Amino acid sequence: MVIAFGKAPTLGFGKQGSPRVSSPHQFSSHLKPDRQGAGWMGTPTRGIELDRYFGGLFRSDARAFACVATSPNDVPGWQNRARPALRHLIGLSVIETDSSGHVPRIDLGEPEAFDDYTRQLGVIETEPGVHLPFWFLTPPGAGPFPLGIFPHGHEDHGMDTYVGKARDAAHQSRIDREDRDVAVQAVRRGLVAIAPNTRGFLPANVPDDRERHGKRDCRCQAIHCLLAGRTAIGERVWDLSALIDWASGLPIVDSKRVLMMGNSGGGVATLYAAACDARVTVAVPSCSYCSIVGLDGRVHHCDCNTVPGILRFGEFWDVAGLIAPRALAIVNGNQDLLFPLAEVDRAVEECARIFQVAGIPELFEHHYGDGGHRFYADLMWPFVARNLPCPAI
Ligand SMILES: [Zn+2]
Repeated sequence: MVIAFGKAPTLGFGKQGSPRVSSPHQFSSHLKPDRQGAGWMGTPTRGIELDRYFGGLFRSDARAFACVATSPNDVPGWQNRARPALRHLIGLSVIETDSSGHVPRIDLGEPEAFDDYTRQLGVIETEPGVHLPFWFLTPPGAGPFPLGIFPHGHEDHGMDTYVGKARDAAHQSRIDREDRDVAVQAVRRGLVAIAPNTRGFLPANVPDDRERHGKRDCRCQAIHCLLAGRTAIGERVWDLSALIDWASGLPIVDSKRVLMMGNSGGGVATLYAAACDARVTVAVPSCSYCSIVGLDGRVHHCDCNTVPGILRFGEFWDVAGLIAPRALAIVNGNQDLLFPLAEVDRAVEECARIFQVAGIPELFEHHYGDGGHRFYADLMWPFVARNLPCPAI
C-alpha cells in the first residue's frame, strides 16, 4: 500500500472571521485526521469552511424574536410574543407538565444568630425528587424587606461562598478579595437574602460518574435534561421562580421589590430568570453577559448554558431586553478572560439600544470592574440602591 504524503496549508479563522493560512502541516502515516483540518491520506482539506458554515448557522435575519422595536409602543408587544417563546425554548413548559400537581415542600432549619442577621438552612423540593438547599438570611425586624436571590455559578457548594462560609483560609481570602459573600452584603443592607444551590453543582448535581461528559457535572445535567426537551438553564430558572413563589408569601418579604444577582453561571441564570419571571424588579448579572456567539462564530459560555435553537430566537441582548422596563445593571471584569471585551461591548450596545427604544435608558447600566471573573460590590450596590428602594442600602 502506498500512502501519499504531502504538505498543504490548513485554513483557520482570524479574529474577524476571515480565513487565514496557518503553517503547512506534515501529515503522518497514521491515517488520522488532526484537529487542524488535515485530512485522510494526505488530502489537504478542511471539510467545513467555518466562515460560510457559521455565517449560515448564525445569520441574524433568522432570529425570529429579535427586538426590532423602533418606539416605546412597540416594546410590550414584542415582549408579549417573545417571553412565552423563550420560556418554551428553555424547557419551562416541559417542566411545568412534568411537575403538574407538585406542591413544593420547604423545610427550614434552626436559626443561627450572627451579629446583625439570622441565617437558616432551607431545602425546597422544586419538582418531584429535586431537593434544592438554600441559605435564608433575614435582617432584624419584622419587615417587610426587599427580597434578594443570589444564584451562584460553577462551584460545588457555591451557596456557601455567597454567605461567606469558607472551607479554608484560602477560600475565605478569595471571598473577601472578590466580594463573593453577596447574600451577607444584601442582608446587611436590609434585604431578606436567599442563596440557593444552583442545579448542576453539588449537592443538587447529576454526577458524571461514568466520565462521559468531560467529568463536568454541569454538562452531565445539561445532556440528560436536553434529552427530555429541557435545558439546564431552564431547570435553574424553574428553581429560582419556585423560591420567589415561596418567599413572596412570607410576611417579612415585600414581593414588589425583588433583586436577583449572580456571578458567572449565576449571572446567566439571573439574566434568563429575570427575562422569564417579571416578578424580578432589579437584575444584576456579573461576569456573564456577552454575545452568545462572537463575530467569529465561536461560543463564549459553558455548555450547560446552551439553549437549542436560541440563535433562531435572538441573541443574548434580546433575552436581556425582556427585562425592560425593570432595572438591569450588567457588570463585567475588564480582565475576565472568558469574554472578549469587544464582544461584551457589542452585546452591551445592543442591550442599551433596546432600553433606549423602550424609553427607559436610565434603567440600564453597564460597568467594567478593574479585575477578573468576580463580583464588584462598589459597582453593583449603588445601582440597586437607586432602583430597589431600601433605606439601609
Ligand atoms: Zn457549566
